[in-house]
Amino acid sequence: MLTDPEILRYSRHLLLEDVGESGQVSLKSAKVLIVGMGGLGSPAALYLAAAGIGTLVLSDFDHLEVSNLQRQIAYQSCDIGAAKVTLMKQRIEALNPEIRVRSINTQMSESQLSMELMLADLVLDCTDNMASRQMINSACVQAKTPLIVGAAIRFEGQLMFFDHSKADSACYHCLFPNNDEQVLNCSNSGVLGPVVGTIGTLQALEAIKYLLGLPSGIRNKLKIFDGKTLDWQTFAINKDPKCSVCGQFK
Ligand SMILES: [Zn+2]
Repeated sequence: MLTDPEILRYSRHLLLEDVGESGQVSLKSAKVLIVGMGGLGSPAALYLAAAGIGTLVLSDFDHLEVSNLQRQIAYQSCDIGAAKVTLMKQRIEALNPEIRVRSINTQMSESQLSMELMLADLVLDCTDNMASRQMINSACVQAKTPLIVGAAIRFEGQLMFFDHSKADSACYHCLFPNNDEQVLNCSNSGVLGPVVGTIGTLQALEAIKYLLGLPSGIRNKLKIFDGKTLDWQTFAINKDPKCSVCGQFK
């Protein structure tokens, strides 16, 4: 059931045939873990909060630096030096007091991450490095928790969705089996703000669709966005039966 203030707040959702009151109740009962409160996490967390996802768990261990403000649009110049999860929690509570927000201000160990995944319906990987992505992927495979991965560098964005609740799901490690393959990141290569913002926004869109039970167009696919031409390329990600992370679950 929705309260009267919720009916007003989400009225534009309630008009949609694919959402309606039952869909909004599904969003209200959902728990989503977002790892990384940077350029991807900024729009992803704000859109999911605005959409009425009932419980958001935010994880990051960084403090805001002035060089973050060019793309991490949830924050302000006066916030420099503060913990990003603390800032984002405050921002979300001001945006939507109807939802619950919990923040984790540490670099999660594998065991802590596994525990958080047991409580989550869905995970958004909004981190900026290969080691974190591999660890999150591995934990999601183990916990059978669906995972939406975003990444961006220079003018290029990447978007993937692995529904680990399904036995035939591929995983991030099937696609990138070599952990130390990519050393490029925003710090040493640069990125355009709207490119990373586009990918974070689409992670939120895919999350909402998943929680509503709507089909995803990107399951077991890698979508690559070219910020110069605005073209998208789509590649199928085949489950690798020999994958050291998900192969045993084939
Ligand atoms: Zn795999």
